Amino acid sequence: MLELEEARRRIFKAVQSLPGESVLLSDADGRVLEEKIISPINLPGFDNSAVDGYAVQSKDLISANRATPISLRLIGKIPAGKSFSGKIELGNCVRIFTGSPLPSGADAVAMQEETQVDLKNADTVLFFGPAKPWENIRFRGEDIKAGATLAEAGTRLGVGHLSLLGAVGVESVRVARQPIVGLLATGSELREAGQPIGPSEIFESNRIGLAALARRIGAVPRIFPLISDTLAATKAALEKAFAECDAVVTTGGVSVGELDFVKAAFENLGGKLHFWKISIKPGKPFVFGQLGAKPLFGLPGNPVSALVTFILLAAPALARMQGIKNFSWPSRPATLGETLENRGNRRHFVRVFADENGRVHSAGTQASHILSSFAKANGLLEISPETILAAGTAVSILRLD
Ligand code: AMP
Ligand code: MG
Repeated sequence: MLELEEARRRIFKAVQSLPGESVLLSDADGRVLEEKIISPINLPGFDNSAVDGYAVQSKDLISANRATPISLRLIGKIPAGKSFSGKIELGNCVRIFTGSPLPSGADAVAMQEETQVDLKNADTVLFFGPAKPWENIRFRGEDIKAGATLAEAGTRLGVGHLSLLGAVGVESVRVARQPIVGLLATGSELREAGQPIGPSEIFESNRIGLAALARRIGAVPRIFPLISDTLAATKAALEKAFAECDAVVTTGGVSVGELDFVKAAFENLGGKLHFWKISIKPGKPFVFGQLGAKPLFGLPGNPVSALVTFILLAAPALARMQGIKNFSWPSRPATLGETLENRGNRRHFVRVFADENGRVHSAGTQASHILSSFAKANGLLEISPETILAAGTAVSILRLD
């Protein structure tokens, strides 16, 4: 049986980034940059006013105060989006608004609140206080300099980067294509929701949870019809899924039973199996293979095993297909609120619940068919083989919330 790191290493070695595509910035939320983005312009693009007020030469207002205001001649007005062709000489001021370009000659903007238009003479403005040199001015390039790197290749774009790229006029970006991942469930006992179920049949639940996980990491899930336990049905379903998708995930049919057909069907199609079985719990039976460059993740059928192996092994690979080199799920520091132990010889990924104070408890029964504890859990805690973690131990949990 393989250790988790070795399994991941082999998967990473085999899986390649998908070719990129160009998308509008407005469609790029959550996408991963394939290119480094350099700013084509300065931001701000020109010196401009940070307030509504009057552009002045600060020298004029050195002695201004409430009792003895200074009056300056108003020689123009610069609404946002316009500029002023003249130059401010001593004794002059220009009406200016937030974001309007600073007129030539000015070295400060006095806030409107510190001024008053002279009631007797509309061409004159009274200033009730001094303005320091460069006060209330936003400088060209103070946010971003033309030529600066705005985002490295491999960045997953979020609100901050999208806003920044928008501000320098980026219209579209090259991003990694989102892998289409086919989700297939094998098992003659499985039924779709809405269908009647016989006494020995169950509702299929793996594809739903896996689709949600796939979306969270930027893959596009495609749910395929249920597959009954025959070699022919499994082969036909795999063939169709590989034709339509960039990666294929199956659940069930990878154990040692004579009705487990995933491996045989895959090899029959020309797929190459890289490994089978990993030393983790839940999730021992796990198949990784490739048909051409496209990966197959053959997950166990038990619902929690399927989800956990997807989280630990398939998700990082699907992230890598989008150009993310070092994907990891978010984690949080926590403290054990009770003693938890792993008596077995495989690493155990325990469903836990961390409360708002970061105290961690088991989320319930840990058997691989128990979904109620997975639903209650907001994290997974790794416990090494033959290990007891005492209450009070500081741990880090993989976040599921
Ligand atoms: P298998 O890995 O096919 O031997 O399945 C192991 C267990 O998981 C069996 O109890 C199956 O009925 C159950 N199981 C397999 N696939 C699913 C599924 N898609 N949804 C719910 N239970 C499943
Ligand atoms: Mg089965």
